[in-house]
Order: sequence, then structure tokens, then C-alpha cells
Amino acid sequence: MRRAVFILATILFAVFLAVGARFVSAKPNFSSANLSTPGTQRTLVLPQTADSSPVISLGTAVDPQTGKKVEGLAIIHFKKEFTHKPQHQPGTGGAVNKCFSFLSNGAKWRTVEAWVVNPSNTRGLADDFVFGNVGGNVSKWEDAADGVVGNGAGVDILGAGSTTATQLSADTTAPDGSNEVYFADVSNSGAIAVTIVWGIFAGPPSQRELVEWDQVYDDSDFDWSSAGETGKMDFENISTHEIGHSTGMGHPDDSCTEETMYRFSSTGETKKRDLNTGDIAGANQLY
Ligand SMILES: [Zn+2]
Repeated sequence: MRRAVFILATILFAVFLAVGARFVSAKPNFSSANLSTPGTQRTLVLPQTADSSPVISLGTAVDPQTGKKVEGLAIIHFKKEFTHKPQHQPGTGGAVNKCFSFLSNGAKWRTVEAWVVNPSNTRGLADDFVFGNVGGNVSKWEDAADGVVGNGAGVDILGAGSTTATQLSADTTAPDGSNEVYFADVSNSGAIAVTIVWGIFAGPPSQRELVEWDQVYDDSDFDWSSAGETGKMDFENISTHEIGHSTGMGHPDDSCTEETMYRFSSTGETKKRDLNTGDIAGANQLY
């Protein structure tokens, strides 16, 4: 009986793939575009929320790799000047704020998956800089996960990266088994970057996990810099924050302005490049 169910599921999945392939091939122009040309990536459209919340639920779907029911979250990194209602975590009797939070307690990577970046962008960042920098930012969180920065030890959380000239697509309706990083226009106004994370965020914490992450950096509305230039978003500053989400980190209380995971950034800012005490303590607790 279970074998029959498995065969039926396999057939349905094959039909799903075939229909999906036809759907993609029916879209105009993508196949003829030179995908390594800057500006040819698509616009990422996310649901608008009434209060411009930084965390948008993408609903539930089935993870194609594990067959598990998972939930999607899109976490938006807003420009500092963008107005929002404050986010304050409940106090605990006057205790010092721990200055870190998780997307969901216990929701972390329990397997190691590779990631891929299409570094093409309209703002002049070199391909090898983008790829190398994302890798370096992954290493910062992995290094901090054992609670000690710079000790040469750590935890392999996000695995190895590679580059591609293929057009990538952040998954807003269901995970596709690929962890993708690229530049595109993000529809939400004030959004510098978005990290989408799929995982199991409810139930016993020991059963929670992350199964996929995608990242989009907005090179339509913002200039980008590799050197903290005035008037431009510093790529390392923003990417180090986004990679934190990929490992399962959330935004700390709005009073924690010095943390890499603080939810707002400004042009020219570079202080998020280095993890702060709350970021390190959080990574250590999660992993
Ligand atoms: Zn964020």
C-alpha cells in the first residue's frame, strides 16, 4: 500500500514537473535574453502588508526534497528612513535585552546544502567580489556559531557556494530545492534586500528546521558599493545581515541598533559587516 502511494506521488510529481516546464517555456523572452547582462533579472513581487511588516508569511507548501510540509517567510530589510511602527520584544522584568532573536526557536539547518549566486548587477559590483563576499559573510556566521569569533573553528551551516549566469528565481510560493542569491528589483518600496526562508517553524523545537533560502538584492532602487561609499548601500553590510536570516536569525528589539541583525540600514553604513555580541550569542545558542 505504501509503495502504491509512493508510485502515485512520483507520477503526480512528474506531471507537476511537466506542467511546470510547459508553463515556464510559455513565458516570453526569458529564453532569448542574455542572462549575464545586468538588469535582466525579474522583479520580485511580494505581498504588501498593511503595516509594512518586515516579515511576510508566504504560506505553506511541500518541500520537494523531503516531502515535508513547510512554511515560507520573506524578511524585508528596509532603509532606515522608511517609516514603520516600532518593534519591541516583551521585556523580562528589567533584564538586559539579549539583542538577538530567531525566526523560530530551534528552526536551524540540520543538513548542509550548497548555494548558488548570479552576481550580475546594474551597479558595477564585480562578479568575483559579489561571490567572494557572500562566501565570506557565510563564514562569519559559521565562525561565530561556536560562540568564539576568529578561533578557526565553527559550524558548517550553509555549505559551499558557486556562481551561475543562469537566471535565478526566489521562491515565493514553494521551495524548489535550490538556495539562490541574485540582484533584481524588489517591488516593496524601501526594501534594500529580501531573504526568503522555507522551513518548519512550529511544533517541538527539536523537530523544527530550515530547508531553503533565497536572497534578492535590489539594484533597481539602490546604488551598491564594495567600499562603504556615501549614498550607496554597502554590499557586505547588507549581505552579512541577510546571511544571518539564512541561518535562522531574526531581528532583535529595535533598541539593539548596533547588532548586525538590527532591521534597518542606511547608505554608507558598514557597522553590520562585523557581528556584534548579540549576533554571536544568538548564533551560538541556535547552533
Ligand atoms: Zn532583516
